[in-house]
Amino acid sequence: MKYCTVCLQPDTRPNTHFNSGGVCPACDYYQHSRSIDWQERYEILRDLTKTIKRKSGQYFDCIIGVSGGKDSTRQALWVRDNLGLKPLLVCLSHPPQQVSQLGVDNISNLINHGFDVVLTTPAPETWRRLMRDSFFKFTNWARSTELALFSSVPQLAIKYNIPLIFWGENPALQVGDLKTMGNTGYDGNNLRYSNTLSSGHAWMLDAGYDANSILPYIYPDIEAFDSSKIQIVFLGWFLGDWGLLENASYACPVGLHIREEAPELTGDLYGLSNLDEDWHNMNQMIKYLKFGFGKITEYVNEELRSGAMDRATATDLVERYDGNCSEAYIDSFCEFIQITKQDFWAHVKESMNKELFEIDAMGNIRRKFQVGVGL
Ligand SMILES: [Zn+2]
Repeated sequence: MKYCTVCLQPDTRPNTHFNSGGVCPACDYYQHSRSIDWQERYEILRDLTKTIKRKSGQYFDCIIGVSGGKDSTRQALWVRDNLGLKPLLVCLSHPPQQVSQLGVDNISNLINHGFDVVLTTPAPETWRRLMRDSFFKFTNWARSTELALFSSVPQLAIKYNIPLIFWGENPALQVGDLKTMGNTGYDGNNLRYSNTLSSGHAWMLDAGYDANSILPYIYPDIEAFDSSKIQIVFLGWFLGDWGLLENASYACPVGLHIREEAPELTGDLYGLSNLDEDWHNMNQMIKYLKFGFGKITEYVNEELRSGAMDRATATDLVERYDGNCSEAYIDSFCEFIQITKQDFWAHVKESMNKELFEIDAMGNIRRKFQVGVGL
């Protein structure tokens, strides 16, 4: 395990590759982005929205997937108010047992801003069973739900005949999932190769699910994209100030509600992420045990890149809070997927990265690496 020489990103992230100077792709891109002509990019975007024209008889110019969180609130308002487009918003909602009050308040906030919003909620029992299967197969309960989340947008774009889809950040450039790189920095049509989507839905069929019951989880194939001329565009590529903190500072004044719990409970430094339910924070803890980094690392990385935080402070924050998770989140998750906490921990400990972590004589998980240094 090696750390980026600029930020605290370890090279354990799937599909990532550091340059010969030991710099991660996100820092490399940040460095490059300082010399970008943002006005020129804005003009590229204006031209693009004229090229991908609204089809005749069509009311909407584009589709945006939203949760009501900081990123999607910013995207929806920016596309409507700065680009002058009419977006149709699509929200894949969690079942009632999972959605948080914050999630309900934030999507209501977006609706109150005057948008047309399609809310779609896959059948909760299939959702629950797939979540349980994902947890045991991938040690990532969200593998199935994220497939539904990502699929809902192109599925509706095809059904509604709206070819232009706006997505937020480019995972290749802004996070470092290099397999998603498209023909240009804004081309999102290779999102299907991301770490989340690449496993597809075949494993669900193998597990015996009826094909019709998993329709919400089927990402449209390349032929379907081509025949409907679907184009996903990463908006983050056009915005010089795209980031966790910047998006939140854009969305909070227009009504975004954020978490008030402490980072000891959430593993989230400022309570800005995963607002619509609690178990993604738990998944960040699991991610930490699989790859050695969680949400705190992503927060401090942005600030290390911009020079707003020094490496010693960032290291201290990561050591103190990364991978933290409230017991209450684990309890409610186990209750929802109907497993015991013993089953939960047995599986998590079995799946954790044994090179990075060990279990001591008391049964507690201990980190073997040094934050900022590696192994
Ligand atoms: Zn870096």
